[in-house]
Amino acid sequence: MKYLSTRGGDKLLTFEEAVLRGLAPNGGLYIPEHIPQLPSDWQTRWASLSFPELSYEIVSLFVPPTAEEGGIPPADLRALIDKAYGTFRSADVTPLTRVSEYEYCLELWHGPTFAFKDVALQLLGNLFEYFLARKNRAEGKEHAHHITVVGATSGDTGSAAIAGLRSKANLDIFILHPRGRVSPIQEAQMTTVLDGNVHNLAVEGTFDDCQDIVKALFNDAEFNATHHLGAINSINWARIVSQIVYYFAGYFALRRQQPELDMAGVQYVVPTGNFGDILAGYYAKRLGLPMRPLAVATNANDILQRFWATGRYEKEGTGEVHATLSPAMDIMVSSNFERLLWYLAHDTSDAPTEKEKAREAGVQVVAWMEALRAEGSMRVSDAQLALARRDFVAERVSNDETRAAILRYYQPEGTRASYLVDPHTAVAFEAANRLVKSEAYPQVILSTAHPAKFAEAVVSSIASASDEASAQRFFETRVLPKEMHGLLERERRVTPVAPAEQGASKLDRLVARTKEIIEQNVSQ
Ligand SMILES: *Cc1c(COP(=O)(O)O)cnc(C)c1O
Repeated sequence: MKYLSTRGGDKLLTFEEAVLRGLAPNGGLYIPEHIPQLPSDWQTRWASLSFPELSYEIVSLFVPPTAEEGGIPPADLRALIDKAYGTFRSADVTPLTRVSEYEYCLELWHGPTFAFKDVALQLLGNLFEYFLARKNRAEGKEHAHHITVVGATSGDTGSAAIAGLRSKANLDIFILHPRGRVSPIQEAQMTTVLDGNVHNLAVEGTFDDCQDIVKALFNDAEFNATHHLGAINSINWARIVSQIVYYFAGYFALRRQQPELDMAGVQYVVPTGNFGDILAGYYAKRLGLPMRPLAVATNANDILQRFWATGRYEKEGTGEVHATLSPAMDIMVSSNFERLLWYLAHDTSDAPTEKEKAREAGVQVVAWMEALRAEGSMRVSDAQLALARRDFVAERVSNDETRAAILRYYQPEGTRASYLVDPHTAVAFEAANRLVKSEAYPQVILSTAHPAKFAEAVVSSIASASDEASAQRFFETRVLPKEMHGLLERERRVTPVAPAEQGASKLDRLVARTKEIIEQNVSQ
C-alpha cells in the first residue's frame, strides 16, 4: 500500500513517509492509493476482538508488514497499538452507552485528555517515535533524526498532542495557544505537563495569530530545513486511519447489545469541524461497514452544512469564524474535506484506467482549491453532489439549540436516562433528533469530549433546571473526574510570546520571537 497526494503528482509515498511528512509538498493531503479489502470473514472473525486487536486488524490493511516497504512488522505494530490504548481509562477504549431505545452514544473521550483526539494522537506519538528510532538505527546514529513538532491550538488539539508526544525520544513539541483565550481546564492540561520536550507558548494574540505564526514557520524553507518541522494537525493520515477503528468497535458493540438489529439501518452522527472524525467513518463505509448515510453535525460555522444543501463550498463573507459554545468546531474551512473532494472527482471520472482517474482527480482538486483561494468558493457537479448525498446528510445547530440539548438529555424524561453531554456532543444529539422525522431508527452519536472540559457551557445550560450555585456544586462533585481535581493548582511551565522589537508587522515580530524561543529550547 502506497500513498498519493490529493493534488496529484506521480510520486507515491510509503506509510512511513506519509506519516512523517503530514502534508504533501504540493499542499495536498495523503490518501491510500486504493481502498483495501476487508477479509471475507471479518463479520465473524472480528466480532469479539478487543479495541487494540481490532485496531491492529484495521491499521494493518493500510500499513505494509516490512520496514523495506515503509511499513511496520506485525509484532511491532501490535506493541505500538497496545501501548497507545493502554493509557485509556476504559477497558473498551471507546465504550458504547445506551441513552434511549434508539440512541447510543459512542464515547470517544476516555483517553488522557478527555477528548476524542486522544484516540489518534496516542498512536501518532508512538509512530513518530518508532520511525525516528528506526531511521537512526539504520544509519548507526543515536540522534541524527529529530523532529520539531509545531502546532497552534484553541484548546483540544494542543492538550491531546502534548499528551501523545510527551517524553518521546528525538522529538520536541511546541504548542502555541492564544494567551488567556483557552478554557482554564484546557490551559492547565497543556501547561502542567513538565516533560523536557514539551514547550507551551502563550501568544499575545488570537488563535488566528497562532495559526499564522505556524504557517509562516512551515513556509520558511531555511528554518524548516534546520529544524525538520513536523505537523500533528488533523491532516496527518495516521490520525484518520486510527479513527476508522471506533466505527467498527461501535458496530460490534451495538450488535452485541442488539443482535436482532438491521445494522445497515444504523446512522452514525458526528460533531464536525475539520472533517477528520467523520472522514474516518467514510473510510469505514467504503471498506464495507454497513450503515446509513453518515450525519455531519455542524455549529454556526456551517460551511459543510451549506455544501450538502447547495453543492457549493463557500467561505463566509465576513472572513471570521463564529465563536460558539463548541469551539473545537469553530472553523472557516474543513481541512480534511479535500480528501472527500478527491473521491467525488475520482468516482465520477469516466477515464478508462485507475491511473487516469487518479490523475484527473488530482487536477480537479487543484482547480477547486485554487477557486477556493481566489474566489472564496468552489462548486461540484450535479453528479458529484448526488454522490456526496448518497453517503452523507448534514445539519447545522445553533448555540441556543446546543444549550437546550444539554438540558434535555440531562433531565430524565420518559424511558430516557439522564445523560450529561459536552457542547460538541450536544450539537450531534440535536442533529440526530432532527434527522429522525417520522419513523425512529437506531443512531450512534459520537461523543467527542467529556462534559468537564467545557464547564462553563455545561453549567450554564443545566442551571435553568435548578440554580447556578447548585448546578456548580453538582458539576464539581458529580461531573469533574478525579484526574482533574487540583489540576488548576498544579505547577506550570509556559513561555509568553510577545512581539519582538524589530519587524515590519505584528505577525513578523511574533514569528521572530517564536523562532528565538524554538532555537533556545529545542533539545538538539
Ligand atoms: C476536534 C474536535 C471536534 C471536531 O473534529 P473534526 O475531526 O475536526 O471534525 C469535535 N469535538 C471535539 C471536542 C473536538 O476536540
